Amino acid sequence: MDNILDGKATASYFDEEMLTRIAKLKEKDITPGLAVIMVGDNSASEIYVRNKKRRAEKLGFNFEEILLLDSISESELLSEIDKLNNRDDIDGFIVQLPLPKHINEDTIVNAVNPAKDVDGFAPYNVGKLYMNDPQQVPATAKGIMLLLEKYKIDVDGKNVVIVGRSNIVGRPVASLMLNAHATVTITHSHTKNLSEVTRQADILIVAIGRSEFITADFVKDGAVVVDVGMNRVDGKLTGDVKFDEVSPKASLITPVPGGVGPMTITGLMYQTIQIAERRANAKG
Ligand code: NAP
Repeated sequence: MDNILDGKATASYFDEEMLTRIAKLKEKDITPGLAVIMVGDNSASEIYVRNKKRRAEKLGFNFEEILLLDSISESELLSEIDKLNNRDDIDGFIVQLPLPKHINEDTIVNAVNPAKDVDGFAPYNVGKLYMNDPQQVPATAKGIMLLLEKYKIDVDGKNVVIVGRSNIVGRPVASLMLNAHATVTITHSHTKNLSEVTRQADILIVAIGRSEFITADFVKDGAVVVDVGMNRVDGKLTGDVKFDEVSPKASLITPVPGGVGPMTITGLMYQTIQIAERRANAKG
């Protein structure tokens, strides 16, 4: 199939580029530092963290996993965040969500120093993205833009339809697309006649979390289709797009797995390096 937007191969391509940048940083005695705080046991989060760790170590990052008990209090977690905010060797960190119910996620997200908020969740970074001056943005959104860039897909003037309006995917992708001069439509569960809207898309980005929901009749001939979905069905990973039906209509399409997933980790690593480069520049 020659219409695949290959996230795995593109991630390897960006790994090479990032290794060159990391080598330059190391000449200045700087190693990109990334930390992940994980509270309690959560098997889904553990898989994500394992994947991040593997890639970070492959790239030669200083990677730290901070595992905390479910019973940790909000103030103890805030003091862990404070330590990372103040450590020079940590460029960026993530507090893996969801958190236990007794901890207020907004309070925690707000406590992360925006300069180290590598996943772009802090309101400051959300605002910067909205104002077309992005610093760090959510990793999946960054990864999608890098994937399209690698395939030289020009979004300027294109009709981009996004299905899903979450803070971690739909909204940041919409802002990045708008910043890149696309004509953007955001759809969600209240959208009327969804398939009529999605059929207008030159580029269709789907992030809803419903296995194989987008069938051929949602897609215009020749559209570029980006499937963010990751659903577990009978032990198998499926996307939000019915690949076998949609692929023959699409000019390019991401598979699941091997599409957006690897690029999300690329987005995270890429932004950690950008922060480390700012540290290097500040050092002179
Ligand atoms: P989310 O927070 O649950 O948001 C889902 C969005 O889809 C909501 O805006 C919802 O609309 C909309 N939606 C649900 N059913 C719909 C329908 N029938 N028609 C139209 N819109 C509908 O999900 P998320 O966190 O963005 O994740 C979406 C999917 O992407 C999940 O499968 C997740 O696992 C996957 N994901 C993958 C990666 C990756 O690296 N590949 C990263 C992040 C997420 P309302 O707002 O109206 O409720």
